[in-house]
Parts: sequence; C-alpha cells; structure tokens
Amino acid sequence: MTRTSCCFLILFLHFTLAACTPREQAAEAPDDRIDLIVKGDYVVSMDEAGTVFEQGAVAVDEGLILAIGPAAEIEAGYSAAETLAGDERVVLPGLVNGHSHAAMTLLRGVADDLALMDWLQNYIFPAEVEFVDPEFVRIGTELACWEMIRGGTTTFVDMYYYPDTIAEVVEQCGMRALISATVIDQRSPDAENASDSLAKGIDFIERWKGRNSRITPIFGPHANYTLDAEQLKATRQAAMELGVPISIHMSESPFEVQYSKDTYGTTSIDMFESIGFFEGPTIAAHVVWPTDDEIPILAERKVGVVHNPTSNMKIASGIAPVAEMLTAGVPLGIGTDGAASNNDLDLWEEMRLASFLQKVDRMDPEVLSATTVLTMATRGGAAAIGLGDITGSLEIGKQADIIQVAFDDVHHVPTYDVISHLVFVTDEQDVASVVVDGKVLMKEREMLTIDTERVAAEARALAARIQSALEARNRSQ
Ligand SMILES: [Zn+2]
Repeated sequence: MTRTSCCFLILFLHFTLAACTPREQAAEAPDDRIDLIVKGDYVVSMDEAGTVFEQGAVAVDEGLILAIGPAAEIEAGYSAAETLAGDERVVLPGLVNGHSHAAMTLLRGVADDLALMDWLQNYIFPAEVEFVDPEFVRIGTELACWEMIRGGTTTFVDMYYYPDTIAEVVEQCGMRALISATVIDQRSPDAENASDSLAKGIDFIERWKGRNSRITPIFGPHANYTLDAEQLKATRQAAMELGVPISIHMSESPFEVQYSKDTYGTTSIDMFESIGFFEGPTIAAHVVWPTDDEIPILAERKVGVVHNPTSNMKIASGIAPVAEMLTAGVPLGIGTDGAASNNDLDLWEEMRLASFLQKVDRMDPEVLSATTVLTMATRGGAAAIGLGDITGSLEIGKQADIIQVAFDDVHHVPTYDVISHLVFVTDEQDVASVVVDGKVLMKEREMLTIDTERVAAEARALAARIQSALEARNRSQ
C-alpha cells in the first residue's frame, strides 16, 4: 500500500467511525427488555425443595436466572428479546456429565468386549500414542460437544490430552467444562512422563485460569497405577498452589485395588488418604470398590464421586455401592466416561441404568429412585464437581444453564409423573433446546454453535485414516 492510499484509508476510517457513533450510542442505551424467557408445561427446578411449576417459565438476563415461576407472572413482569415456547416442553437444569474423555468419540467401537487393563494397555494407550494429536482432539471434542448438547448436557468434566485444544473447542461451542490436563507416568500423546505432563499441566492451568468463566482448568492425574505416590503428591501440591481441583480415576477395578495392596500395602482410597491427597477438592471417577471403612473417608473429605454405570458394566469393573455412599453423605454425580467404553455420551441412559443396576444388585426396587438419580445428574452432580453455587438447579442468581425436553413423542403420552418420565423414559433425542450461561446453543434441535456438517466430514476423513492404519498394523502382525 502506498503512503497516499494509506492516508485516504485512515481518513475514510475516521469518517466511518464518526458516522457510526450516534447509532452505537443508541444501541448502548439501556434496554428494559431481558434476554430470554424459557417456558414449559412443567418447570422442574431441581432446587432443594423439589419445586415444580406447572405452566412455568424462567426469566434470564446477562447469563443469570432472574426469576422462575408461573409463566403468566413471568411474562407479566418481563418482556424478553427471545422466548422459547413451552407447549409440550419440560424445562429443567442442564445435565452435568461428571466424567468424560470427550475426544474418544473418535475411538468409539475401535476395541470392545475387553477388560479394563487389557483394553487400556493393549488397545487404547497404543492407539492414542499413534493417532492423538491436536487435530484429533479438536475434531473428537467437537463431536462430543455436539453429542452432549444434543442430549441436554450443559456441563462436563473432561480428562484428555492437549487440554488447550479442548478448552478452545469448549470456548467456541458454549458449554461449561472442567478441563483436566492429564498427568500420567508414561509416554502419552502430549508428554513423555509424569514430570513432563505435570509441567505442561501447570502451563495449561496458568494460561486458562480466569480466562473464561465457563472453563475451569484442572489437573487430571490418571490413577494410582499409572502414577506413584510421589507423583500423585506432586500433582496435589501443584493443584493447591494454583487453587484448582483434581479429577482422577479411583478404585475403579479389582485390578486397581489389588495393585494398590501389592504396591502400597493398602486399598486404593486408603492409600490416597494416607498421602494427604484429599487435602484439596477431588473429583473421583468410578469408585466401584470402596471398602466399608473407605466410604466415611470419602464423605468426610467431601470427595465428589462420579458414578459411571455403563462403563463399569461394559468393562465389567463391577457395581459401585451408590446407595451406601449416598447414605453416608458422599457427594455423588454421574458420568458417561469416554465414548470408547460406553459407547455414547447419553446421560439419560446413564440415569436409567444407574437406578436399575442398583435395584437389581440389591434386589430392592426402592433404592435410587428417579428423583435421586435426576439429582445426581443435576444439582448433586454440580455440587460433586464444585459448581454447586453456579449451576445444577434453576434458582435465582445461578447461571442460566437450562434445557427444554420435548414431551410430544409417543413414549410421553400420557405423562402421570414428569420426574418418572425424565429418568425412566426420556432419550437424548427428546431434548429440544439447550441454553448455557443464558446463550441458546440448540434451538428446537438446530445446533447454533457447531458446524455439524463440517465436523461430521472431518471426523469421517480422520476415521478413514485411523481405520487404514489399524488395518495395515493388523496385516503386519
Ligand atoms: Zn475415565
């Protein structure tokens, strides 16, 4: 560009900006309209009292819940820029997926019907070292966010590699997430060993802490059989210094408990307690094999336990004593785990299976009622991951993480008990609209923040490359 044309451009810009000023000022003038009203035949608040409003509505402004109550009162009190109509819709808080490995959507169905250690060491870990890079993580996490939003999940706790990439996807798609930097003492896709992964995790947390209110960067030490006691202590120390929680796999399988006895001389949770691991906030995934003595430790230390019934069933890890942990006062949430061990990210299915699995295990149909598991997927799950003040229920002052479920499908006709239908009938395809932080991410099943065509095309292209590499490897073996 020549000097003269540059000057003209500056002059042009100057006049353009000047011409815009009055209109911009007008746009900034206070508007008494609120952002959004979400209506429903039922509004299931999931507050402590279990309040349900028939013909209800939620008023939302600047990301927060401003009011909740009968739709007539809400609409008399507020006018909104946008309203989500409530005919044949049930409104409830967005679901909380307490444990996932989002990008593993790209490894769904690659290795099924295997036990945890065989599956991890002979299939998943080698495949990850070979195929997982930032592009894999971006596409896989986009797929997962698409699937989770479609199914009414608004918050998730993730643990995978290249956490910066995960955070960038979450920033774009509009969900809320705790994103763990994986710490593991082996060569992984993004680090060489425990100290390298811890150092990279510290860098990630320093980059993302306080950057986006929807994103909480945390540490994800993998387990006490992929890290030793000193490495686990070093991770906790770093988490304390940075003021962030930890998510970890804990007491997941009989292998882990036996390994812990052989290596540390005690059972798994007891081992964590003995090294002071619970000094800071902990989100423990699975917890299938706590002893009677360990359950009170979890309650006393306020360890948030995330139950993963499908993954525990598929890998035959066992049946977690959920009823006992709830009775003992352990904060309990629910999660899907990764799509390679589930094989989907459907929390409705997870709720239903959590309830049925516990009933048949105890031969007691009264354990884990619909209300109990719906609490685990909403308010209870949010509390278990440390976001109880922010999300998990529809209450004034909380962030507006709200979903609308369509009740027009034949399986909802007729509906006698809306909570029973949400847990024992609803599928992810019933979810109609999803709001996070007051922003509509899906409206009447149309995804607004994810270019689904592009993501599907990229996922298929990447999967074709993985497929041919796996075939070539099998031929050479
Ligand atoms: Zn996991």
